[in-house]
Amino acid sequence: MATAEVENPTLHTCETVGCDKEAKLQCPSCIKLQIQGSFFCSQECFKGSWGEHKQVHKKVKAKQEVKPYSPWPGYYFTGKLRPSPRGPLRDLPLTIDRPDYADHPEGYPASEMSVRGNSYIKQLSKDEIEGLRAACKYGREVLDIAAAMIKPGITTDDIDDAVHKACIERNCYPSPLNYRGFPKSCCTSVNEVICHGIPDQRPLEDGDIVNVDITVYYRGYHGDLNETFFVGKVDDRIKELVKVTYGSMMQAIDIVKPGVKYRDVGAVIQKHCQAHGFSVVRTYCGHGIHKLFHTAPNVPFYAKNKAVGVMKPGHAFTIEPMVNDGVWKDALWPDDWTAVTTDGKWSAQFEHTMIVTDTGVEVLTARGAGHGRPHFLDQMDS
Ligand SMILES: [Zn+2]
Ligand SMILES: [Zn+2]
Repeated sequence: MATAEVENPTLHTCETVGCDKEAKLQCPSCIKLQIQGSFFCSQECFKGSWGEHKQVHKKVKAKQEVKPYSPWPGYYFTGKLRPSPRGPLRDLPLTIDRPDYADHPEGYPASEMSVRGNSYIKQLSKDEIEGLRAACKYGREVLDIAAAMIKPGITTDDIDDAVHKACIERNCYPSPLNYRGFPKSCCTSVNEVICHGIPDQRPLEDGDIVNVDITVYYRGYHGDLNETFFVGKVDDRIKELVKVTYGSMMQAIDIVKPGVKYRDVGAVIQKHCQAHGFSVVRTYCGHGIHKLFHTAPNVPFYAKNKAVGVMKPGHAFTIEPMVNDGVWKDALWPDDWTAVTTDGKWSAQFEHTMIVTDTGVEVLTARGAGHGRPHFLDQMDS
């Protein structure tokens, strides 16, 4: 093993212990590995130190050989986002009431599946509405806790951890956990992720957007809501996307009352989004919700859909449009959950659970009084 002579070296002293002669010769392996320093005064000193010195190469090589996390070799990503490793599976005290799928090995929601394909929409009684209201109230509290955490540097796993703990404190089961095998307690959808993103150890970056989707199960009822948040300073076009998405949900909520057809919701949403140059996702829809997490009605968010059913007092369902900056089309990551845009452009979403009243609608997951105020508006003001 020979050394390379360095051109115009600044003054170095020999690495060999006890030798402090001026050194101009640099170890060639160190140059290759981009290790700073490692100068020797002579070939003799270099050879003499070799046994000890080569340990330096070994250490640095081991570090450099740590490969980036890449669970799906050959998978073509549509955008810049990549999955990160996930934190450990979380546990839950058995004192908390669990939905049927919680203990099924694949998270099979048997009660939901037993009425699958049935378009009958349950009208909730007063007591049932109270049950749903309580779940929605806790869902809102949990989402507000997540909202307060959003900033560059925190991971979506951090959010999931806080959500999980906040559910336990309220005697709620986090509905996503093990639902059809979903591995976490909430969905976190970053940038080009449309929905159902799995919390992981990627730190949020300045300029990202992240949707946090919370559903809690409390005393037999599910309450479901989500909001999209800004992480630090976000691009103006993306701010517009978030604002228009929220506006489209609120306009759709405004038409809800007895007698309105579920298929009319999509037209309102698509019209508003299209007018601002955005597109609406077609694969994922709103859903009936009460003792079942997902049930009739099916509520699409695009125009000219064929949704079945007419709104009646006591119907409980979600409106949760997913709106894209680019094309409407979605693709699925190989984790079978993460839905992304096919062009890698970003996507926003908002969701409320509501109940049809005798004269209109009551939003059960609103923040504060009335229809509430989403967190992103506070973020825009600050
Ligand atoms: Zn949701
Ligand atoms: Zn939902």
